[in-house]
Amino acid sequence: MPASLLARKIERWFARNQRRFPWRKTYDPYQVWVSEVMAQQTRMEVVLAYFERFLKRFPTLQALAKADDDDVTAAWSGLGYYRRARMLRDGARAVCARFDGAIPRDVEALVEIPGIGRYTAGAIASIAFDERAPIVDGNVARVLARLFADESQPWERATELVHAAKSPRDLNQGLMEIGALVCKPGKPLCHACPLRDDCAAFATNRVDAFPSPKKKPATRQLRIALYLVTDRRGRVLMRRESGPLMNAMFHLPHGDTSLLTAAPIAVSPKELLGTFRHTVTNRRIEFEVFSATAKRTAGFAWIDPASDFPHPSYVRKALRLAGIEGQRPLFARP
Ligand code: SF4
Repeated sequence: MPASLLARKIERWFARNQRRFPWRKTYDPYQVWVSEVMAQQTRMEVVLAYFERFLKRFPTLQALAKADDDDVTAAWSGLGYYRRARMLRDGARAVCARFDGAIPRDVEALVEIPGIGRYTAGAIASIAFDERAPIVDGNVARVLARLFADESQPWERATELVHAAKSPRDLNQGLMEIGALVCKPGKPLCHACPLRDDCAAFATNRVDAFPSPKKKPATRQLRIALYLVTDRRGRVLMRRESGPLMNAMFHLPHGDTSLLTAAPIAVSPKELLGTFRHTVTNRRIEFEVFSATAKRTAGFAWIDPASDFPHPSYVRKALRLAGIEGQRPLFARP
């Protein structure tokens, strides 16, 4: 089938079936950029929960450009992969400095901005500005691989389709939506697919063969003790830690260095408050949360749990487990 007819099918399907996302109301370039960065490595339901909050905090690119690391990581808290948030802020600063605060519309200029790679540049150019820029993310790559029964040239296929489209914006989002809602990784809904009559993998009964399976990194199981040390004012002892996965955020004292890299604090555990599971990349962690006392607290800070301190989501889970969430802790203090 000619690319123009395929493109038309995708665009028509998108017009009828698109999900109502907040950034699709105006296609404001800043909002499109934020949504794309949030959607990397994060499920869309989670993105939706955080998008409005982030936009409330930083309604414009200029507001984000002025934010410091703590503001950005606090507003991003819960989404994980915090480096993305700081890169987004750095990108906003570059747009203010180099483009007078106006996000450029062409891919060549966009990829010059820190944190914007080929995919994000294509997404901003096509979705915000309706430019003929291709995009290939995991969803699009899967749809194209099955549609053509060939996964060797996703960018070439995406380029051909976007050049044949009436609306690059609708074509690219249509491909992404078909990948997310119909041509799903495990169980594609071929009976509901607008491309079924054109799909080479479907026609040859090889849907399961695309994309070809990749080896997953081995999962590591860890058990880590966390210590909740509080003072008389209900503040919690924490330390800002840097290094891989630490993201310069506040972490709880712990008894392990395999994930939390800084040296463990010397504490006296008192009572096991509970356990919870948490996953970070390929690590499955069972956290054991103890109330504890500490004699030496040098290098640590007393943090008010009700304040807006930058922290990873496991810290909030531990505080919640102990009944501390913007309120006084339930267990005994030193
Ligand atoms: Fe994917 Fe099935 Fe549609 Fe082919 S027919 S694009 S495999 S959902």
